[in-house]
Amino acid sequence: MDCIFCKIVEGSIPSKKVFENERILAFHDIQPAAPVHVLIIPKKHIPTMNDVSGEDDALMAEIFAVARQIAKELGVDESGYRLINNCNPDSGQLVYHLHFHLVGGRNLGPLLG
Ligand code: AMP
Repeated sequence: MDCIFCKIVEGSIPSKKVFENERILAFHDIQPAAPVHVLIIPKKHIPTMNDVSGEDDALMAEIFAVARQIAKELGVDESGYRLINNCNPDSGQLVYHLHFHLVGGRNLGPLLG
């Protein structure tokens, strides 16, 4: 599978992990947009948000729980953060393996500013 995030899951491409269990991996973004910039991904290859199905309900709920936990651990739960998913070309999605950007640690300004 020619997917950079699947290779990170396999371990053939290194990453700075902040969380891992059997289903989910979270690691620091290689080009951080803010002091905290973590990517949270399912280990299962799901290309985009459009490809999430009902059978992934528990996985999605767990991803959100992991996001809350990481926000707390990295100290941005109270100051604030964004959880961002880019879906398809107009969003700027570059990696076609579902991921959520957890971004914080500074005032992020207007959403589309
Ligand atoms: P997106 O535009 O939503 O698809 O974002 C993809 C993100 O993956 C970008 O913020 C990249 O900086 C990040 N990224 C790409 N390759 C790596 C890598 N090897 N390790 C960590 N983050 C990466």
